Amino acid sequence: MISFDDITVRYGDFTALPKLDLTIEEGEFFTLLGPSGCGKSTALRTLAGFVTPTSGRIRVAGKDVTRSTPDKRGGGMVFQNYALFPSMNVRENIAFGLATRRTPSAELRSRVDEIAAQVNLSPEQLDKNISELSGGQQQRVAIARALILRPSILLLDEPLSNLDAKLRQQLRIQLKDLQAQFGITTVYVTHDQDEALSMSDRIAVMNHGRIEQFGTPEELYDDSASEFVCTFLGDVNRLSPRQVQLLNDSGAGLDTTRRHYIRVEKVRVEGPGSTATHRGVPVTGTVRKRRYEGATSTFEIEVGDSLLRVIRIMNDDRGQGMWSPGDEVRLYIDPQKVLSYTPAVQEVAV
Ligand code: ATP
Repeated sequence: MISFDDITVRYGDFTALPKLDLTIEEGEFFTLLGPSGCGKSTALRTLAGFVTPTSGRIRVAGKDVTRSTPDKRGGGMVFQNYALFPSMNVRENIAFGLATRRTPSAELRSRVDEIAAQVNLSPEQLDKNISELSGGQQQRVAIARALILRPSILLLDEPLSNLDAKLRQQLRIQLKDLQAQFGITTVYVTHDQDEALSMSDRIAVMNHGRIEQFGTPEELYDDSASEFVCTFLGDVNRLSPRQVQLLNDSGAGLDTTRRHYIRVEKVRVEGPGSTATHRGVPVTGTVRKRRYEGATSTFEIEVGDSLLRVIRIMNDDRGQGMWSPGDEVRLYIDPQKVLSYTPAVQEVAV
C-alpha cells in the first residue's frame, strides 16, 4: 500500500532521514516509534507530502506520489490535524472536510450523525461548542472529522500525547477498534512504547533517522535486535559481569564477551520456605526494596554485586510474593530469555 524507497530528507546540512526503506501493508496499523528527534514526524510528513525528500521515492497503491501535493496523494490520505475550529460547533467541525467538497446538505447531515455515533459522540454533543467538550471528546471530534472523508489511509502524529493517562488508555482502545472496524491503513507516530505495543500490527523502531528494527510487537519485545530496541521497549536489567559469572557457575552458559539483559517480568522468584522451582538457573539474592503499585509490586533484589529489579503481579492469596527487605530469596533466570548483544566498541579491562 505504501512504500518508502531510499528516502533521504535533509534540512540544510542536517540529514534527518538517511535512506529510509519501509513498506506498509493495506489495512495495517503501522507505528513509527522512537525518541524525540529520531525523525518519525519527518517520515510521516514526507508521506503526507508536507516535506519534499532530497532523494528517493514514495509510492502509494503502486503510484509514485513523490512529487504530488498533499491533496493529490492517492488513496484518500488524511493527515490528522488536531486543531479544531473554536468558532464552529461540533457538527460544523466534523462536517468541514465534506462541506468543502460541496456535499448536499441532507447527505452531510446524515454522514455526520453516522460518524458521530460510531465514535461515541451523543446527538446533544453535536450542537455544543468545541470549548464545552473535554479533551477526550475533542479528540473524538478530530477523529470523526478525519473518518467522515472515508480515507483509505490515516496518518496520525502523537494524537494522544496531550491527554491524561486514564483517558489516553481508553482512547487507545477506541482508536484501535475504529481502525480495525473501518479497515483503514494507519500510520501512527509515537514516542510511547506502551502505546505502540498495544495498538500496532507492526512497528518500526527509529533512532537517529534509521530503522533499528521492524516487526510485530511480540518480535520486537521478545527478540529485540539491538540494545537500543531492548532498553527502549520496557524495563530491563543489564546483568553485571559478576551476575553473569554467578549464572554461569550454575550452568547458564552465557558468552562473557557479550552484554546481557533480562526483562523485569521474566525473572521468577521464590521466597523463604518455598520449595517451588522454575525453568532456568537459580541464584540467591537478598530483597533490598519493595515498591507497592497496586496490581503489581516491584522488588529490588541484591544478587552478587548489584541490584536486579523484578516485578510481580499481586494475585496470590497465600502471602507469597510479599517479601520484605532483608529476606533471602531464590531467583530463576532462564538463559533463553536473556537478551544478549555484542558491544559496538569492545570494553577493555586495564
Ligand atoms: P519529536 O517527537 O520531538 O517531534 P521526531 O522523532 O518526530 O521528534 P522530527 O520532528 O522528524 O523528529 O525531527 C527529526 C530531526 O530533524 C530533529 O533533529 C529536528 O530538530 C530536525 N528538524 C525537523 N524539522 C526541521 C526543519 N524544518 N528544519 C530543520 N531541522 C528540522
